[in-house]
Amino acid sequence: MNDFETISSWIEGQVPAMVALETLLTSVPAISPASGGEGELAKCEALTKALRDLGFAHFERYDCPDDRVPASDPARKIRPNLVATVPGADDSRRVWVMAHMDVVPPGDLGKWNSDPWKVVEKDGKIYGRGVEDDQQGLVAGVFAALAFLKNGIVPPHTIQLLFVSDEELGSDFGIKYLIENHSDLFRPNDLVVIPDGGDSKGETVEVAEKNLLWLKFVTKGKQAHGSRPDLGANAHLAGCALALRLNALEETFERRDALFEPDRSTFQPTKKEANVPNINTIPGLDVFYLDCRVLPSYTLKEVRAAMREIVLGVEREYGVSIEMIDEQAVESRATDVSAPVVTALSRAIHAVYGVTARPVGIGGGTVAAFLRNIGVDAVVWGRLDETAHQPNEYCILENLSGDARVIASFIFEAANA
Ligand SMILES: [Zn+2]
Repeated sequence: MNDFETISSWIEGQVPAMVALETLLTSVPAISPASGGEGELAKCEALTKALRDLGFAHFERYDCPDDRVPASDPARKIRPNLVATVPGADDSRRVWVMAHMDVVPPGDLGKWNSDPWKVVEKDGKIYGRGVEDDQQGLVAGVFAALAFLKNGIVPPHTIQLLFVSDEELGSDFGIKYLIENHSDLFRPNDLVVIPDGGDSKGETVEVAEKNLLWLKFVTKGKQAHGSRPDLGANAHLAGCALALRLNALEETFERRDALFEPDRSTFQPTKKEANVPNINTIPGLDVFYLDCRVLPSYTLKEVRAAMREIVLGVEREYGVSIEMIDEQAVESRATDVSAPVVTALSRAIHAVYGVTARPVGIGGGTVAAFLRNIGVDAVVWGRLDETAHQPNEYCILENLSGDARVIASFIFEAANA
């Protein structure tokens, strides 16, 4: 047996131990204080102890203060981020597996067939809040790294397991905090796998995101009686024209990129605030929102410039004034489809699951963007059914050990990529 075969067959025998770690982690809810929870500290402590007991020896904690954490001890008003390291033969390029500790609330308990915080095993699956999102990836990463330790095999590169807080609600206390305050943690030639999304075959490797732009448009006109529209300036009508013209930017920004689904930039009016309560008033105020997902080959600067032109035109034609307000703007650099992290992971996926990996881009919103934007290549991958955030969230045990074997294979492949 070669080293990978040794590791692979060891992992296959570890399913009960993986379920035990899933069970422990599920029993400590790590819900954001913003969602009424206590944060990730208790879960992080339970995880650290479990990792020590398993045989991990090198830890580093990066705590981000958060006043909203409901703890009486001020020292516990923090959101922890943990790194566990397995030293490799070569430390010049590190392999990262990044998973998040936080989970979303269970939602309506009546929709669950069992207690969301107690793992139940049935027909080759385990059920519980967090067992898939993101503990499948977390536990797979742990056992991939542990396989090297337990079998006395030195990994070709240093392995860094990164367990972050606050992934579900924007990452201000998680990866964003680490990048802003501990930028020396990551190096440009590091390879990062984020096992937190994918498909049931494990073939899609997410390498890029569209640029995200959420805007609020406030149109001010002049209120008037419904019978005398000429005495007012109908803000709703102007808002309708504005929404249609903004949507038509889908034809202006016309490039296509087959990496993405859909393959074009989208500009969609979404949320609408109520205006007048009665039919016979010409509204003097109109507020709506626009959700834009722009191919990364366009900058948001270009997009905003085109929008300002449209705003000026509608203001002139309808006699209104329009304010354009940023709600969220995230620009993202793509990881190249031929980057070493993609090549190494694709080989690993093929070796373990026998499928051909397919790089994809998505509409926006994963933690990979923060790393890509500082020049570190990162991919999001996993073989899962995407039951995240749903009642009766589950994890298929075969995927748990399979993903661990893929990550272990990826660690070997990283040396040749
Ligand atoms: Zn997740």
